[in-house]
Amino acid sequence: MSTHYEVLGVNKDATGEEIKKAYRKLARKLHPDVNPGEDASEKFKLVTRAYEVLSDTDKRANYDATGNENGNGQTGFGGGGGFGGGGGFGDIFEQFFGGGGAQGPASRTQRGRDALITATIDLADAVAGTVYPLEMETAVTCKTCEGSCCRPGSSPVTCTICRGAGQVQRPVRSFLGQMMTVETCAACRGYGTTIDDPCIDCNGQGRIRERISKQLKVPAGVASGTRIHLANQGEAGPGGGPNGDLYVELEVRRHKIFERDGVDLHARMNVPMTAAALGADLELETFDGLQVIEVESGSQSGDTVRLTGLGVPRLRGGKRGDIIVHLQVETPTKVDAAQRELLEQLAKLRGEEFAEGRMENSGGMFSRLRGKLGNLGA
Ligand SMILES: [Zn+2]
Ligand SMILES: [Zn+2]
Repeated sequence: MSTHYEVLGVNKDATGEEIKKAYRKLARKLHPDVNPGEDASEKFKLVTRAYEVLSDTDKRANYDATGNENGNGQTGFGGGGGFGGGGGFGDIFEQFFGGGGAQGPASRTQRGRDALITATIDLADAVAGTVYPLEMETAVTCKTCEGSCCRPGSSPVTCTICRGAGQVQRPVRSFLGQMMTVETCAACRGYGTTIDDPCIDCNGQGRIRERISKQLKVPAGVASGTRIHLANQGEAGPGGGPNGDLYVELEVRRHKIFERDGVDLHARMNVPMTAAALGADLELETFDGLQVIEVESGSQSGDTVRLTGLGVPRLRGGKRGDIIVHLQVETPTKVDAAQRELLEQLAKLRGEEFAEGRMENSGGMFSRLRGKLGNLGA
């Protein structure tokens, strides 16, 4: 007896793609619809059986190890699967070559569409997580007919035009002579049945549009663009079909203090010149309450203070990010006489009086410039 590899004409180390290719080629040649011979039919079964085993990683490993597909010492097709049921190879063949042949009537019952809506939340909610009240218009199964599309007490009747097939044959003339084409039955639109007494509440659709609200659980750590997937919470399908899925895409509003960078939050903090020079404890309102920012004596603009673990949580768990405070030293813009005197004293103490001298110099230059402009204007 040939091995499955020999049946498909591939090497023992053939890739999945090679096995698929080999099967496709042989199946095209041997399928009973194409090749009605008894011999071909037997070969087709062997080829399909070989493909069934070798295309499945587990089954193939088992087969390689034991030399038979059951892995229990038995040979042949005695085991559960077999061909007797008739289900086996037809399915695989259809995966490759499509349904083919006559199709039954279409089903009124279909899965509903997936829906995508957006929800805008504050940064605080992205950090802490929240429950967001979703309001949306969607399709829900009609309660009157429970999706049957019929007025309660009535039911669909077999289409008299196509006799339930959903399709009708029509002769057409072509350059090859008269041919029959198969078309969707117009009377029942392919369903094979007609609804003579439709439900009035849903117009025979089995579903209605409704405004619904639901509470959306938003986990901590979401960002703009994060999509929350709610299986089976999209639109109800026509004819009592199952719901599609609902996707909620989140949008996080800009915050007036914090700028987000992944799980870290950046903030700018103005520090008075004196505080920067002397050192000070300043306060910053964070999502974890008021925090003390320790500004060290001698801090410069651009220095940073890090609040570890007060940033945004990671969506999949783990350590929270940090808050990074960027210091911005403020030079006083207006000084009164008393302040000026103190600053001048300070300058003297620090041996920085040249600053004053330079100011006078530039003042002189400015007044000279102004003089020139004045002359030009005259
Ligand atoms: Zn209805
Ligand atoms: Zn019909």
